[in-house]
Amino acid sequence: MKRCYHCGASLPLKFPACQHCGAIQHSEQEHGRLECELHNGIPAKALCLVCARPVCGDCAVMECGKFFCDDREHRQLYKEMVPLMWCESEFEVDLILRNLHSYQFPLWWFSPSQHVENFWHRVRMPIAVWIAKDRLKEAEHVLLDLGLLEESNDSKYHSGDLSL
Ligand SMILES: [Zn+2]
Ligand SMILES: [Zn+2]
Ligand SMILES: [Zn+2]
Repeated sequence: MKRCYHCGASLPLKFPACQHCGAIQHSEQEHGRLECELHNGIPAKALCLVCARPVCGDCAVMECGKFFCDDREHRQLYKEMVPLMWCESEFEVDLILRNLHSYQFPLWWFSPSQHVENFWHRVRMPIAVWIAKDRLKEAEHVLLDLGLLEESNDSKYHSGDLSL
């Protein structure tokens, strides 16, 4: 199994960047050379763990060994929220949001394809639906009741620190 060159997490799925730390895996040539979203011609070093924006060495902000873009709100969000679910597509995100709409959970999500580089290179990354930590259990129960979450979902590709 492949491992992230930066954080050592195992990388069971074929994505251009490690979803535990954001580091771009340069062996993934199939994605072409991703450039920094803000600096033309400069190779991207990572995808922001929250919004998946490609950032170069100058733009990347590292906290606790994880890469973020320079938007402070994203680092804040990463501290206060957790992924409720990982989705394969925006279609799936939409499905989740529609089903949870009436519960008014504090949910957040970012589309990787909002960034031109990702769109251009057809970068696919799992999309997190973020939720405030204190509402996680409650929302998980709702999803379980709706049949939208499997009991084992958390081990599939839950973010960060759990599966290292
Ligand atoms: Zn990593
Ligand atoms: Zn970001
Ligand atoms: Zn840059």
